[in-house]
Amino acid sequence: MNDRQITVLGLGSMGSTIARLYLDQGYQVTVWNRSADKAEPLVARGATLARSAADAVRASPGVLMCVYDYRAADAILAMEGVAAAMDGRLLVQLTTGSPQDARDADAWAKRHGARYLEGAIQAAPDQMGQPDTPILMSGAEAVFRAAEPLLGVLGGGTVYLGAEAGAAAAMDLATLSTIYGTLLGFMHGARVAEHEGFDVAEFGRIVAGIMPTFGGFLQHEARVIQSGDFAISQSPMRISVEATQRILDTARQAGIDTEFPAFAAGLFRRADAAGLGGEEIAALIKLLRGA
Ligand code: NAP
Repeated sequence: MNDRQITVLGLGSMGSTIARLYLDQGYQVTVWNRSADKAEPLVARGATLARSAADAVRASPGVLMCVYDYRAADAILAMEGVAAAMDGRLLVQLTTGSPQDARDADAWAKRHGARYLEGAIQAAPDQMGQPDTPILMSGAEAVFRAAEPLLGVLGGGTVYLGAEAGAAAAMDLATLSTIYGTLLGFMHGARVAEHEGFDVAEFGRIVAGIMPTFGGFLQHEARVIQSGDFAISQSPMRISVEATQRILDTARQAGIDTEFPAFAAGLFRRADAAGLGGEEIAALIKLLRGA
């Protein structure tokens, strides 16, 4: 087995970047993509274009897949000869999916004699291959440890989350939830700034400036949830009950869309009504638990 050989299935913007990173590190790279033309720039840099997905899998002991979604991934895995070619290989699935998608793919790989790792890339293509590129990984620990040198080419910020195949996808989902929640608030804030006649780019700069502090605050609230002690330590729930109501009232008066603040204020009102107003803001988790 030559551990400097790698196959990359899927040459969209992320898959092409991954293949290029391995080429740059001197790996012997075999590639395959549904639309073969996307392989041209990689072939020009030394990659080998396989004639079929099955040929591509056969070419290397390690196979990285990065396609649009699990529907696309499953379509490739169902292609003629692919399942048989997987026997004895390592399949690293870097396609974003749900925890159940990952568990199903893990079971599929094991049925066909392959070792399996699931990876959730938390960076854009041009951020790949950096010392801090964040990638969440899950799968059997021995398989992960053996694959570490290979995975190190993708970036130095790999976080191993354990043997449960769905773990990386689950943590990816949880972090995406944080990002989308923040993004919705940011968009509402941008509209407020615009309505008030501010330079919205200035708003962006101010928000970027508070993010490290906000990250520290979120870490504190996560520790509170884990400890189960919701006595006020940083931020009383009641402050947020009032703040979100103020954002909602201001939007109404200004004629700004109220969907986001109405949702936020409604959640905090429910928390207050449930008797959580006098606890740390992290006690909102109790409402989400349905207790
Ligand atoms: P992309 O540029 O849109 O490329 C999609 C890839 O999937 C192409 O190789 C495409 O093949 C293939 N594909 C789509 N449907 C297919 C099907 N039915 N059968 C076979 N192949 C199919 O996507 P990307 O940005 O590379 O993203 C790939 C994965 O990385 C996604 O799961 C994404 O969530 C994840 N990711 C991306 C980013 C990012 O910023 N780009 C960041 C983190 C994670 P064709 O060329 O033939 O269409």
